[in-house]
Amino acid sequence: MASILPNKAASALLSASLPVAAASPPLTLPASATHGALTFELLARCSTTRARASLLTLPHGPVQLPVFMPVATQASLKGLTPAQLADTSCRLCLNNTYHLGLKPGQAVLDAVGGAHAFQGWHHNLLTDSGGFQMVSLLHLATITEEGVRFLSPHDGQPMLLTPEHSISLQNSIGSDIAMQLDDVLVTTSPDAARMKEAMERSVRWLDRCLAAHAIPERQNLFCIIQGGLNVDMRRTCTREMLARDTPGIAIGGLSGGEAKADFCRVVATVTELLPPLKPRYVMGIGYPEDLVVSVALGADMFDCVWPTRTARFGNAITRHGMLNLKQQRYATDFGPIEDGCGCECCRPSADNPDPDSSRPAITRAFVHHNVSKETVSAHLLTMHNVWYQLDLMRSLRNAIIEDRFPERVRTFFADLYPAGPAAYPDWAVDALAGVGLHLRE
Ligand SMILES: [Zn+2]
Repeated sequence: MASILPNKAASALLSASLPVAAASPPLTLPASATHGALTFELLARCSTTRARASLLTLPHGPVQLPVFMPVATQASLKGLTPAQLADTSCRLCLNNTYHLGLKPGQAVLDAVGGAHAFQGWHHNLLTDSGGFQMVSLLHLATITEEGVRFLSPHDGQPMLLTPEHSISLQNSIGSDIAMQLDDVLVTTSPDAARMKEAMERSVRWLDRCLAAHAIPERQNLFCIIQGGLNVDMRRTCTREMLARDTPGIAIGGLSGGEAKADFCRVVATVTELLPPLKPRYVMGIGYPEDLVVSVALGADMFDCVWPTRTARFGNAITRHGMLNLKQQRYATDFGPIEDGCGCECCRPSADNPDPDSSRPAITRAFVHHNVSKETVSAHLLTMHNVWYQLDLMRSLRNAIIEDRFPERVRTFFADLYPAGPAAYPDWAVDALAGVGLHLRE
């Protein structure tokens, strides 16, 4: 096989034995490793599946894994103040490099001292590379070996995002985790040659990102494994990326309309090859079922705009599925958005002078009354949905630590599908069976 690597030194590194989980001696837990600007402590592993509970310490504090990361595209989570976001227990959220690079722009970010200071967020930030936004938002983006060419949405001028420019922007943003620029294709692309080119180019671009990275002692650069739905290509890419020894590892290009069974096969193939003491991030994942199954397959970190976007359409995520609060039947429903939820909306208000009142701070009827009219309903549902996602991950984490993760997964599916196991989606049942958890037995 021709090497993807640009030079002989890197090829020599690749031919050396790679850090593959299967080849490692058994770990005594807890076990930890410090790499770049992070410390990863593996606390517990599920005795049935590949699920893991760990503690990731980043420059702006500790983050409990597995974790869901809300997406604050324009350096703000739509509808929440930084204090409200922190109140949901969020300690790591996303910003988009593409948006911040355009506005406020690199000069403003440099002047204020980075995105944490700019948005008043004192916890951790992860930034994407900007490439995905360009390719998905701009019809005229073209990819060459040099980088991503596009026309500025502001003035139509031709622009070029290179791996070096993406890293320079992320250095100015000062995110705790920066992502490499990668060549992303939708996984369902039928063009195998182009898929291989994109995978190999992503490896070459990682080398350019690593060379350009100015602050590795306070910002962690993660690689992104590509290769579409082809598991051999994913394996090759994983080995190449592991040879570069980044502090954390992402699996990219998924959540692009592929069948869920294909998604699970790719995640399971890659996690099997990863070393135990590094965080594993599956990009673009946010549906509760996808999170639960991906955790079982051994992944630690996830992000998605869906929970906050769907809140703005009047939808609440609950353990029994989605509720659309626009529906007339909620007009006289004085219960909480979700029974038993601990979010600021659903728990009883601390200001209620009646100590015996069990009425929630916010009722479904109130959300219904304002939905589509006032932004307050979008804010309240955003708060609830972010809480739901973080609380789901917290409950999975606690279950892993207490070694009752399979039981927690069973409860999750039983709550979501009251009709019973026959109604569970086959892809989830099959993926979980692949890691020893048999939901229909
Ligand atoms: Zn709630």
